[in-house]
Amino acid sequence: MKKHNFNAGPSILPEFTIENTANAIRNFNGTNLSLMEISHRSKEFQAVIDEAEALFKEILDIPAGYSVLFLGGGASMQFCMVPYNLLEKKAAYLNTGTWANKAQKEAKLFGEVVEVASSKDANYSYIPKNYEIPSDADYFHITTNNTIFGTEIRKDIDSPVPLVADMSSDIFSRPVDVSKYGLIYGGAQKNLAPAGVAFVIVKEELLGKVSRAIPTMLDYRTHVANGSMFNTPPCVPIFAALQTLKWLKQLGGLRKMEQINLEKAALLYDEIDRNRLFKGTAAIEDRSIMNVCFVMNDEYKELEPKFLEYAVSQGMVGIKGHRSVGGFRASIYNAMPKESV
Ligand SMILES: *Cc1c(COP(=O)(O)O)cnc(C)c1O
Repeated sequence: MKKHNFNAGPSILPEFTIENTANAIRNFNGTNLSLMEISHRSKEFQAVIDEAEALFKEILDIPAGYSVLFLGGGASMQFCMVPYNLLEKKAAYLNTGTWANKAQKEAKLFGEVVEVASSKDANYSYIPKNYEIPSDADYFHITTNNTIFGTEIRKDIDSPVPLVADMSSDIFSRPVDVSKYGLIYGGAQKNLAPAGVAFVIVKEELLGKVSRAIPTMLDYRTHVANGSMFNTPPCVPIFAALQTLKWLKQLGGLRKMEQINLEKAALLYDEIDRNRLFKGTAAIEDRSIMNVCFVMNDEYKELEPKFLEYAVSQGMVGIKGHRSVGGFRASIYNAMPKESV
């Protein structure tokens, strides 16, 4: 029987994605060749990447003037590509956890970084509010979903400067007003595809403004001009991403997906709040609908290994919390069925 897969990433994917990708690895599109052994320049693969880009734009309702890119290097590569391409003098960062810190660290290699606010004081258990974004910053960087700490910014915020968002672990979990962002990026392995590809949604008018020289592969303009095909793209993860996008569309798009995600998250949070054994670790108003972090109440702390053992015996995997929070983390991404929750 299939496990209840609560892994944080790489993580659960729709059966539709796994099935279709497995089939294409055996025989891609009736070519009698594997998806792994065809040319990325073939008309069959060109059709895959074209459709993936078109569906990506359709499902997220991306306005004109933005490009969608599929790149190697994961979200971590974007931590450096963003400042390389956009930071001339100064950038602003919101510090909401491990990934936000890693992003900020790279930006410091390229210019001045202003940390507008941080929730480090409370082990990143909340999203800072009432901070000021400097109006002379080249951009403002946020991490919309903090995969490790289970907090999430689920509202598209207003920023006086271009807004850059790491959406690795909540992309396609809800509708997003892309027009409020200058750039959105993420690794695919949380909600979209197997590891190996990152997506970037970039407003083209922001590019080409910094004075430094940018290596060809790290310059967004290279990939915009070449439709993500300057070099060999990660063909299998892109094919898998296309399957997930088709699945999302069939399901009814992002309004529907968000509604399902809210229901799944409520099911779990309601039980955590009701059950005297458990407590949630994230501030209630900032709780993530993708990564549900919880611990056992102090008086039951010694039962944590027992609960974990029980969860494993019931076919659950990946429910142990990250070492920086402890307890448990149930990652309930888009593909997670309600029955597993
Ligand atoms: C997983 C994750 C990353 C890192 O992604 P890689 O593709 O492994 O580089 C970055 N940011 C967030 C929010 C993540 O969840």
